Amino acid sequence: MVAAVRPRTAGATAGLAAGDRILTINGRALRDAIDFQFYGADARLALTVEREGRRRALAITRRPGADLGLELEAPRPGEIATCANKCVFCFIHQLPKGMRRSLYVKDDDFRLSFLHGNYITLSDLDEPSFERILEQRLSPLYVSVHATDPELRWRLLGQPRHGVEILPRLERLAKAGIRIHAQIVLCPDWNDGAHLERTVHELVPLHPQVATTAIVPVGLTRHRERLPSLRTLTDAEAGALVDTVAGWQARFLATLGSRFVFLGDEVYLQAGRPLPDAAEYEGFAIAEDGIGLVRRFEDGLTRALARRRSTRAGRRVTVVSGTMYAPRLTRLLSTTPLGARARVAAVPNALFGGSVAVAGLLTGQDIQRHLATLGDLGEAVLVPAAALRDGEGVFLDDLTPDDVARALGVPVIAVEPQPRALLDALSGT
Ligand code: SF4
Repeated sequence: MVAAVRPRTAGATAGLAAGDRILTINGRALRDAIDFQFYGADARLALTVEREGRRRALAITRRPGADLGLELEAPRPGEIATCANKCVFCFIHQLPKGMRRSLYVKDDDFRLSFLHGNYITLSDLDEPSFERILEQRLSPLYVSVHATDPELRWRLLGQPRHGVEILPRLERLAKAGIRIHAQIVLCPDWNDGAHLERTVHELVPLHPQVATTAIVPVGLTRHRERLPSLRTLTDAEAGALVDTVAGWQARFLATLGSRFVFLGDEVYLQAGRPLPDAAEYEGFAIAEDGIGLVRRFEDGLTRALARRRSTRAGRRVTVVSGTMYAPRLTRLLSTTPLGARARVAAVPNALFGGSVAVAGLLTGQDIQRHLATLGDLGEAVLVPAAALRDGEGVFLDDLTPDDVARALGVPVIAVEPQPRALLDALSGT
């Protein structure tokens, strides 16, 4: 389904419009957005389109490589493949009751992995889907491995009825040239220590097809009811993990030419250790998984500040942050006149509980309640756009920035996680 057509593009010239459903391209029936990309790559396209219940034929001719200018609608919840797992750490099982239904969708869909980088377990992947991945070369894919020991992985995935052995599946993908970004959600006492060592070292032979392995710490909310017992890393364990991963990275760099294994930003912050330099993230391929996001942001901010060379004082604003990043952001802003009059508010996450400390999971109510205790908030409140649901502009609890602004009596501005956006918001441009 076409959501929008950019003007002066091949799609607009051909007469496509928002609301059109594209049924076939060059005689091939389309199943989804991936088929659209796959069959729509040719220079000459004959389309069958359904508009207001009637079918019509449209032809597109474009220069090689030229963008068609179409934006497609996101799949609806019923169109997304969901998992039958009950992972012991699943964040969705730890959500409070009564939130928006779309938040409870347990997607495990290879199409979303290819299109948007969502991590999938491959455990429910049927043979036709496997063949489609290979035929259409859907690469890279993002795969939740967690453990290569079949029995341990089966327990981590909640003892599903089907087999969950991961290495044969990864080997098949790797043999076909599909690149994979692997992920391990680290649960202390479950898949750490010797298990982690085994998992990482059993993935190594699949490099370079398994391009990276991300180790991210488990996130626990206070809504874990009737779920297996889990705990978060201690500070000392976080420090030890930083050292272990640094050792592996040095070894893999020498033998594979890549560090191969990367650790979530949260672990460095928790351990109070310096973040690796930008070059050590080897292109930030998995930044969206929280691997290097902080380093990329801070380096970008330093560069953007150097370019501006402004000595003008920034606005008096309140900058909302999660409790984990707030101390670093405070230090960073204090180094520039633009940030000198900004106050960073470390907002605790009351909805999910104390161990959830990232800004992207703050709710409107949490922000509202905490800021109401702070007195003068200045000219505006800057909230992280990452806390707003994509395209909907609402926090997880359905409040909007305008709702929070009305309650606090001060404008609330959503700021994208790019250094320039923050500097613009601080300077009021
Ligand atoms: S695969 Fe596991 S973590 Fe992912 S949605 Fe399913 S149960 Fe949750």
